[in-house]
Amino acid sequence: MNQDPAEFTIVGNGLAGALLACALAKAGRRVDLYEKRGDPRQGGPQGGRSINLALSVRGLHALRDLGLEDVVVRSAVLMRGRMIHPVAGPLAYQAYGKDDSEALLSVSRGGLNRLLADEAAKQPGVRVMFDHRCTDVELKDGTLSFETPGGHRQVTASCIIGADGAYSAIRGAMQRLDRSDYSQSYLTHGYKELTIPPAEDGGWRMERHALHIWPRGDHMMIALPNADGSFTCTLFWPFDGPHGFSQLTSERQVIEYFTRVFPDAVPLIPDLASAYLTNPVGSLVTVRCRPWHYGGRAVLVGDAAHAVVPFLGQGMNAAFEDCSTLIECLGRQPDKARAFADYEARRKENADVLADLCIENFVEMRDKVGSPWFLMKKKAQLLLNKVFGKLYLPLYTMIEFTRIPYAEAVARARRQDRVVLTALATMAACVFIAFLQVIRR
Ligand SMILES: Cc1cc2nc3c(=O)[nH]c(=O)nc-3n(C[C@H](O)[C@H](O)[C@H](O)COP(=O)(O)OP(=O)(O)OC[C@H]3O[C@@H](n4cnc5c(N)ncnc54)[C@H](O)[C@@H]3O)c2cc1C
Repeated sequence: MNQDPAEFTIVGNGLAGALLACALAKAGRRVDLYEKRGDPRQGGPQGGRSINLALSVRGLHALRDLGLEDVVVRSAVLMRGRMIHPVAGPLAYQAYGKDDSEALLSVSRGGLNRLLADEAAKQPGVRVMFDHRCTDVELKDGTLSFETPGGHRQVTASCIIGADGAYSAIRGAMQRLDRSDYSQSYLTHGYKELTIPPAEDGGWRMERHALHIWPRGDHMMIALPNADGSFTCTLFWPFDGPHGFSQLTSERQVIEYFTRVFPDAVPLIPDLASAYLTNPVGSLVTVRCRPWHYGGRAVLVGDAAHAVVPFLGQGMNAAFEDCSTLIECLGRQPDKARAFADYEARRKENADVLADLCIENFVEMRDKVGSPWFLMKKKAQLLLNKVFGKLYLPLYTMIEFTRIPYAEAVARARRQDRVVLTALATMAACVFIAFLQVIRR
């Protein structure tokens, strides 16, 4: 094998790394792709992350560019809206949009990882190295150190792409440089997954085409459908406190708590108590940093640049959008340092806005989605969208079902709200004046 380094050395063959390797290879670039784990196509758990993911327009667009959209859509389950499960009383359904063009897709993380890793490995310009954990990076000369089953290995890269996730080694090396900003903040909540198995006949035990939410004020449970008839439930609870994970330590406590707080879920999860006590609790981190690149030598994509909490289902979608933008910038600008600066200028502000939106949406999901006021507001927004079309797009619609940059979407939503409030205030004033005139006569 030719041992010369490729034009790009990507660290992390996860969702963003594999997708970017495919896109670069298709653009005629040579790529070396290093991954700390074993080959996902050999099976075995990928562990540590959600089992399924909500895929929306931004992610689909990047997959379409690689000719992979159809195969992903075929294996996904369409989620047309939210199904709200109160403690007692009937379920409430809220559609996400006007039709199936405004729906989310539930996809298997493992399946997507394998598909992308497979596609990357098939590209003639890509060399893939599994079981290579990057342990050290010398950005000045491009030296990367890896721990492998065969021992320590060092390679020299001409251009490094850090696609190695929220705890990125490449970002770690950038953080040690002068004038490098970095912050990470953890939520007081973590997450734990449980499974609702398929029904006896292989079908789904709840409405298949919905994202199910059990909002409970300061905590919640959600469930996304899987193609095999099962659902993956995720508990987003505080680590400690009266509704915290640490409070339930015996099977009896688990069953009692769920019977009181999530009663309709209890008969759907046969191994509830044992799974709750065995399954791990993951933490939820937001990462911000600047700069995202070191000259033309290194650049960050995906969670390595901007990990966000999962309450808008946008982390992977934004990571894929990073890859599309980076490819565009490299296509326009042969000088890598300039291309990376352009990429950062286009993405950084949007990633910061997304991080804030994701935290805000946690409060909406766990607390507000069940309230009649929230329901009314969503209905009014969809109605305005129906009447005014593209002139009025709800913020959620812009985030999930368009490729309008996140920061622009937020600014536009604020403008729309101002117009609607002004119109309502004017209408109210007119009605009041008319009323005064009537009573004066
Ligand atoms: C509970 C939960 C639910 C989520 N749900 C959604 C959702 O519904 N929709 C959505 O869009 N996003 C969702 N996300 C976010 C999404 O998982 C991430 O944004 C996405 O995985 C980012 O992709 P990435 O390739 O940047 O990082 P990762 O997927 O983390 O991939 C990083 C890769 O780098 C490898 N690696 C790490 N360190 C090294 C090293 N030192 N050397 C070599 N390789 C290394 C890892 O093994 C991995 O393969 C969710 C996240 C969580 C935690």
